[in-house]
Amino acid sequence: LFGVLGGALALAAVQLGVMLWGRQQPLERRLRRAIRQGGLTVVYQPIVDLHSGAAVGAEALVRWRNEQGLPISAEVFVKVAEDRGFIGEITRFVLRDALGELGAMLQRVPGFRINVNVAPSDITESWLLDELRRNLRAARVPPGQIGLELTERSTAERAVAVDAIARLRQAGHRVYIDDFGTGYSSLSYLNELNVDALKIDRSFTRTVRPGAEAPSIVPQIVEMARALNLDVVVEGIETAGQAEYFRAMGGQIRGQGRYFAHPMNARDLLAWVYARRPPAPAPAAAP
Ligand code: C2E
Ligand code: MG
Ligand code: MG
Ligand code: MG
Repeated sequence: LFGVLGGALALAAVQLGVMLWGRQQPLERRLRRAIRQGGLTVVYQPIVDLHSGAAVGAEALVRWRNEQGLPISAEVFVKVAEDRGFIGEITRFVLRDALGELGAMLQRVPGFRINVNVAPSDITESWLLDELRRNLRAARVPPGQIGLELTERSTAERAVAVDAIARLRQAGHRVYIDDFGTGYSSLSYLNELNVDALKIDRSFTRTVRPGAEAPSIVPQIVEMARALNLDVVVEGIETAGQAEYFRAMGGQIRGQGRYFAHPMNARDLLAWVYARRPPAPAPAAAP
């Protein structure tokens, strides 16, 4: 409860700060200018195989610092861009950055994947598939190395979501449901959506801790995902205990969180991933 309260208070403080400072210039206008003038950056957070400890991929996360150099919460400014109808410009920027980095990454780490977050309005836009196709070709990246993360909000309109997901998967991309468990997807609906993987929201991960008053329901979510043939990524792993808890569940399971690595720039990501790559198979003995 205190965690939730603390989070809500922090978010309120950020919003208040944004509002007060926005008296001088609305956040929207400054954000639009930052997009135009190259004021956004992208950081990458590794997604790790809990059994081997190797990174199998990373999630791209957008960052913005204001003119004073202070970071503005992605949650806050992404929402502004969504509400004001220009989130597509951010998505496009992140996609380009991610595909460029992925092209370089794949030279050193075969099979690496990058996930990009897409907003509800993005998945029905025709430019999304065109943009993906064009950038993949330029970066020489196979489509299966790109994952798109959709929140359950994106899937509120059933027919639209089913169709958009099908088209993304037909193009060869992987589709993830992000923050799973925070929305209202029923089991049958999830089955109908036909995605590749679930990212279990970190509010569930948080319930795995010593002295927790109730058993975590994450094992049931993982079982359900597996019954539907979906891959699983557990978000927000912050402690060794949580990593071990999920590892001990067995089967293919992946995790992401500060226990493994904070989001970082692409250069640091390459070094991080390269240092943890699985050992090369031993050379065959000479005859
Ligand atoms: P998300 O897609 O669920 O991304 C995961 C968020 O959890 C990131 O916050 C990440 O920094 C944070 N996180 C990672 N590990 C931990 C951990 O161990 N503990 C805790 N407490 N947090 C952790 P971030 O970067 O602030 O982004 C927040 C949200 O903003 C994202 O949630 C996503 O919904 C949205 N977002 C971020 N970048 C983009 C983007 O490029 N496009 C769109 N459309 N949305 C984005
Ligand atoms: Mg995400
Ligand atoms: Mg998430
Ligand atoms: Mg989230």
